[in-house]
Amino acid sequence: MIKNQIFKTAVTDMNNLGYGVCRIEDMVVFVDGAVDGDFAEIRIIKTARDYCVGRIERIIEPSHHRIEPDCGVFSRPIASRCGGCVFRHISYEHELELKRSFVASSFRKAGIEAEVLPVLTAGNISDYRNKAEYPVSSFGETGFYARRTHDIIPCESCSLGPFEFDGIAQIFRNWFRKTKPSGIRHLYLRRAFGTGEIMVCIVSSSRRLPESESLILELRAEFPEIKSVVLNVNPDDTNVILGKECITLFGSNTIEDVLRGMRFRISPLSFYQVNHDGAELLYGEAIKRIRSTNARRVADLYCGAGTIGICAANEIPDISLTGVEIIHDAVENACINAKLNNIKNARFICQDAAAADISGYGCVIVDPPRKGMAPELVSRLIECSPEHIVYVSCNSDTLARDTRALVLGGYKMSSVTPVDMFPRTGSVETVVQLVRKKPDTYIDITVDMDELDLTSSEAKATYDEIKDYI
Ligand code: SAH
Repeated sequence: MIKNQIFKTAVTDMNNLGYGVCRIEDMVVFVDGAVDGDFAEIRIIKTARDYCVGRIERIIEPSHHRIEPDCGVFSRPIASRCGGCVFRHISYEHELELKRSFVASSFRKAGIEAEVLPVLTAGNISDYRNKAEYPVSSFGETGFYARRTHDIIPCESCSLGPFEFDGIAQIFRNWFRKTKPSGIRHLYLRRAFGTGEIMVCIVSSSRRLPESESLILELRAEFPEIKSVVLNVNPDDTNVILGKECITLFGSNTIEDVLRGMRFRISPLSFYQVNHDGAELLYGEAIKRIRSTNARRVADLYCGAGTIGICAANEIPDISLTGVEIIHDAVENACINAKLNNIKNARFICQDAAAADISGYGCVIVDPPRKGMAPELVSRLIECSPEHIVYVSCNSDTLARDTRALVLGGYKMSSVTPVDMFPRTGSVETVVQLVRKKPDTYIDITVDMDELDLTSSEAKATYDEIKDYI
């Protein structure tokens, strides 16, 4: 296969980057913009040892999964497209089927047999994101990074976020043009969907924000729901968005949301699930499994602001829960959140999950970041062997890797439930429950001599010898 060769071919699959997949002359070809079910003319634009990349020249017969993309940025060539959505050109039903197959494929690749259930969804496929982190160009444009680069693709309206974000970004850009501040890196917004409260956080390498009063006045005049304006200071030359220092410029240093009837205060540095309705659904799935274990002592590792643990402690009042989280501000939120909701059966510790004392817990919930559990934690789980583990994951590859280690270490896994927290993107959340296998069971055998049809020689064997033989 050589560059610029053209083939007429069927597109047979899609991957989680949104590429259509074809097989031509035993070679896998990834085609941007192609959809499984398309029959198309494909031009090879890159050849590698194990795969090729192609471009659609002409769609001869379009797939019935196709829909018209409703975002101007999505339809552009890849270099000028944002790295967010990958599925705006297919139906949501098909996206859910694909996501189920992605999770199944992660387990298959890890060599684990798994029954993957249909993907659950809260159904909110647009305006669902409660957080945006817009990189800011030196000219004050806001947008998103192109895929796998730090090129900023200006975007003034994103259909995944609430309309308030577009308006706030607009005011920010106007202020930027007037003020010409230096050092601004990101505009980071959060909206609590349960209360409507909004946090505006400006990430800068400098501790000073010029003309901040006029910016705050304008923002609040247009969006009175803004309860918090924060300057986050990040002077480090890394690609981590937030620095450690937060300076509150207006209002509170947290905003408050409501999830499954519980109130949660969230600091800028605390993790918080980006899809409110999706999180309620996901937590419901986790809590169903925690309840089914009948465990009394429950650990919630990688607990963030305590959201899963506090909902569980509320809905299953006879558990005693310990949350563990490495980010100090998130643990502080979790402790306050427990008080705010009058939850007495949950406590929170600031610690590396890998160092947590998990002995004596009947159920351990883990909800690690994309890289999965630390290997030391997997070993500790196998060593301490809690009867139940409920694993919540945002990356099915690392989930399958860790699950494999736990299965080899003596756990049996239940069916796998994906939950779509990120409609239109390539990511999906997954919940798996694992139960410790009972040690090898002894089978008691009693042999009744009369029942045996003995030959004369066998009749000479002793009862013990027959038992051994059996
Ligand atoms: N369960 C929470 C948070 C999940 S995100 C929720 O549903 O909101 C993963 C969390 O793990 C983040 O809060 C992150 O700060 C935390 N984390 C990352 N590495 C960690 C570690 N080594 N030990 C403990 N927590 C960690």
